[in-house]
Amino acid sequence: MSVSNTSEQWWDERILITAKTYPIPHAKHHETVCTAGINENGEWRRLWPIPFRHLSGPQQFRKYEWIEARIRKQGSDRRKESHVVDPDHLRATGEVVGPERNWQRRRDLILRWQAASLEELSARYEEDLTSMGVFRPREFGGLKITWRDKPHWSRELQNKTEQGILWASVPSLRPLPFQLHLEYRCDSPRCPGHEQSIMDWEMGARYWTEFERNPDEQVAAEATQKAFSEFFTAGFDTWLHVGTLGPVWKSWVIIGLLRPKAAAQTSLFEYV
Ligand SMILES: [Zn+2]
Repeated sequence: MSVSNTSEQWWDERILITAKTYPIPHAKHHETVCTAGINENGEWRRLWPIPFRHLSGPQQFRKYEWIEARIRKQGSDRRKESHVVDPDHLRATGEVVGPERNWQRRRDLILRWQAASLEELSARYEEDLTSMGVFRPREFGGLKITWRDKPHWSRELQNKTEQGILWASVPSLRPLPFQLHLEYRCDSPRCPGHEQSIMDWEMGARYWTEFERNPDEQVAAEATQKAFSEFFTAGFDTWLHVGTLGPVWKSWVIIGLLRPKAAAQTSLFEYV
């Protein structure tokens, strides 16, 4: 008797990468990154597992780059966007969508699929397990540093990761000693206000750059906080890219920031 199981069906797709979260160790895959993207039909994708730092050169993709991937729906993670990637059929195309003309192409490909608010996304989660999206808050509040009182992952897990790294010649994965939490309010009368952690890889990368410049955790974290605070000022038209934290845990976190520069008065003349 043949049993058809649709969750086992693979297909090929072009996906525009929109966010990568800071990597965490994984017992089986050494380390993983939550990679988010959107396909040509405007459907969001969460791709897993992608041991990003272990990919070979031609497979290492950038934010806003189109990739070609063979994927299937993930059976154990029922969230609408979660898909498994076949690592043998993953290719970075080198086609990067640039920020020219005030982000016009990125707006057409990504921001046109915006949600109105986190409240809208939460309602859609209840309907069909929508667990990812972008939207523009009505106002931003503070960006706060929260220190972790213990490392983000265990020594045992770190050791397993190190074993993988011995052959992969990738620098050791370091846990961040802090989190950045953003306060904001959506453009919705139902919005109670939010405070969420930013898990964007760019934030972690910025911290380590600062830490190498001055190896003091407090100073480096504050420099990162200062640099990221700028994205929530009038100089930027920042959108939040959010996703839920896990297959069953429906708290939302910020997986990336989409941050066009705010159109300056003078740029109006470009269109005259
Ligand atoms: Zn809200």
